[in-house]
Amino acid sequence: MPDFAQPQPGSEQLRSRIDRKLLCSVASEPSVAGKMELYLALSQVAREQLATRWVNTQHADRESKARRVYYLSMEFLIGRAMNNALSALDLRDSAAAVFTAPGPSLGEVMECEPDAALGNGGLGRLAACFLDSMATLGLPSWGYGVRYEYGMFAQSILNGQQVEKPEAWLQDRSPWEFPRPGKHHTVRFGGTCEHHDEWAEWHAADSVEAKAFDYVIPGHGTERVSTLRLWKAAAPAEIDLGAFNTGDYQRAAEFKNRFENISWVLYPNDSTAAGRELRLRQEYFFVSASLQDILERHLIEHGTFTNLAEKIAIHLNDTHPAIGVAELMRLLIDDHGMSWAAAWDQCRRIFSYTNHTLMPEALETWKVSLINRVLPRHLLIIYRINQEFLDEVVRLYPGDIELMRRVSLIDDGGGHDRDKRVRMAHLCIVGSHRVNGVSQLHSDLMVQTIFADFARLYPERFHNKTNGVTPRRWLAQANPALSTLLDERLGGKDWRLNLDRLQDLRASADDAGFRNAFATAKRDNKLRLANYVAREVGIVLNPDSLFDVQVKRIHEYKRQLLNVLHVITRYNALLDGSAVGLAPRSVLFAGKAASSYHMAKQVIRLIHDVAAVVNNDPRTRDMLQVVFIPNYGVSVAELIMPAANLSEQISTAGTEASGTGNMKLSLNGALTIGTEDGANIEIRDNVGAENIFIFGNNTAQVNAIREAGHRPMDFYRDDPALKEALDRIDSGFFSPSDRPRYHDIFNSLLHYGDHYLLLADYADYVATQKRVDALYLSPDEWQRKAIINVAGMGPFSADRTISDYANDTWNLGTYLK
Ligand SMILES: *Cc1c(COP(=O)(O)O)cnc(C)c1O
Repeated sequence: MPDFAQPQPGSEQLRSRIDRKLLCSVASEPSVAGKMELYLALSQVAREQLATRWVNTQHADRESKARRVYYLSMEFLIGRAMNNALSALDLRDSAAAVFTAPGPSLGEVMECEPDAALGNGGLGRLAACFLDSMATLGLPSWGYGVRYEYGMFAQSILNGQQVEKPEAWLQDRSPWEFPRPGKHHTVRFGGTCEHHDEWAEWHAADSVEAKAFDYVIPGHGTERVSTLRLWKAAAPAEIDLGAFNTGDYQRAAEFKNRFENISWVLYPNDSTAAGRELRLRQEYFFVSASLQDILERHLIEHGTFTNLAEKIAIHLNDTHPAIGVAELMRLLIDDHGMSWAAAWDQCRRIFSYTNHTLMPEALETWKVSLINRVLPRHLLIIYRINQEFLDEVVRLYPGDIELMRRVSLIDDGGGHDRDKRVRMAHLCIVGSHRVNGVSQLHSDLMVQTIFADFARLYPERFHNKTNGVTPRRWLAQANPALSTLLDERLGGKDWRLNLDRLQDLRASADDAGFRNAFATAKRDNKLRLANYVAREVGIVLNPDSLFDVQVKRIHEYKRQLLNVLHVITRYNALLDGSAVGLAPRSVLFAGKAASSYHMAKQVIRLIHDVAAVVNNDPRTRDMLQVVFIPNYGVSVAELIMPAANLSEQISTAGTEASGTGNMKLSLNGALTIGTEDGANIEIRDNVGAENIFIFGNNTAQVNAIREAGHRPMDFYRDDPALKEALDRIDSGFFSPSDRPRYHDIFNSLLHYGDHYLLLADYADYVATQKRVDALYLSPDEWQRKAIINVAGMGPFSADRTISDYANDTWNLGTYLK
């Protein structure tokens, strides 16, 4: 067993290691190296140590034949690796000391790294936080996903509108990835099946190679690491040579592309199933490669599959990897000769599944005809799983045909063959031993609504696992000013590994000295963000104004438009003199709209149009500013979260499964204005109702309004402030060169039913915003509550979430320290 202990270098020693890397690896002369070369050299220093930690961890897990958890996810929204790696390796302080003037600072060097944006938003970022916690808790764990050549698009703004640009993050290669040339698996598609009793021979039409690239995920306060293994698609090498040799380069290139396009792009869509064959191929591609990899590792270690479920747990992050249930059955039965019954028994003990949305339109289904064409063997397996499942349902509820139709893995399309679809969520539930939602409210609604029938059939299967975020990235690294203060106040750094330690801050909320220091840290962070905004957007923010932030994907259910209505209302009140007791505010938005989501793009445009009017009005400029910060992603979030005073979490009650942005913001000392939705409820329970601004209709009231028939026109008629705000949007006040520009927004609210009930929550929202101002004008009270928010965030550490999964879902509790 290699020795774990390596003394960490001081800055002198680190300097010489960097110089050596510059000379021997980067090929650059240290005295003239620019920040890019320094970034490459520093990453090589870190990489070397990560490599050793990876080898040691694998060695230990192999020796102990550890039970492992495999986290399958289409998305990992990681962001940059450097700061996190330096912190985990305890090199951060030495590195800061190495990079001094007149050369670039450590911060400038770290900014050379492009974000690894292999995800759309919350779901992908959750997966990244979970890897951090799995490594930190020392769990024998692997993440598996797709090595997208192009991740989330880069957003820029042109004339107030979103422009999407491809993000070629791998163009200059990543110094953090470890290619594994020897690790590849063949993934097959299409063709026909030849049946033999329980098993089948699959004569596939195509095949593609999946090549492994590893990312070492460092643990904090431990030398153990986790692995993120991503698969790249490669054409089978032998075949394109024929075309190439006859001079048909185009055909040769087309052939290569036809296979390699599988891992080209992340689908920029976080809410609806992209009904596209390539997406299905992507899903199957990474799932098949991952399961082959997992089985290979198991067989080397154990020589048998009879103990598979004792030794592995596989988690399905949403339904995107659902085909894994059928694929594991296929591999065990067709390739490894297991009986159907034995394979099914293993399967159901191995898989667990997290649901991320209750919206019926976002539940993934695939046409039976498509699956039949792309994955014929899997369709047969799904049919048989369904047959046995429905047989079981009939035994429990004889004669309940409607129940069978509802729970079936196949939506029968009203009897039309071409409309038949496979319901991936049902496949996950039937194939798993645990199913969870991501906040208490979401888990409750899940078993009351979309999965009510399954909860009746398998009540023991359903659990809640409230999301969390890693306090390393989202507090220790993103907010050094507050972290230093916490280290002093809490007498050490161990809150990073035990976030419940923050509770001890509660007492300090009454300490005026601490409140001052806390306020100073916040102001420093606001200045840092203001500098960024001045540079990127050209707007100068007042750092003493209330920084009111709504940063997340742009989506109608998240109701950025409600926020805009409040901004316009405030502007109107400032103009007509009815505004009293308001504090100066900077309303900050950031977020990307899916490229095909017209309404979301309109909201981005409206924000810019409103900002142009408001920011250029000398009568209001000191009291109200509006900024849209472009290209929201992990690195931009790391700047915004520490600088926020107010966190906008204003989704229609019952629509946001959990939210994690809400947690990051509270953790950094923002107060929340929010609805009774997702984890907002649990944040309230932990920080106390008097320290959070909860407003609006709750889920039961939302349902009642919808049942009675929501009448947006009544609110419009009866509330003059609301009417004025809406009329200004509709009349073209903010778009004088194109007056009809926002008719569609107006119509969606007034004439097409206001599906997300903005108008029903508007009055309470505006009234609550006034209470926010009043509190902000009492800085002592504000700081007190902000401190109590931070103190209450212990349960929202992803370490708590992962411990709960380890104990209740993955049966890995014994590995926890
Ligand atoms: C945390 C995070 C999200 C999720 O934000 P919500 O407010 O929970 O929707 C999305 N994108 C990025 C970059 C994040 O860091």
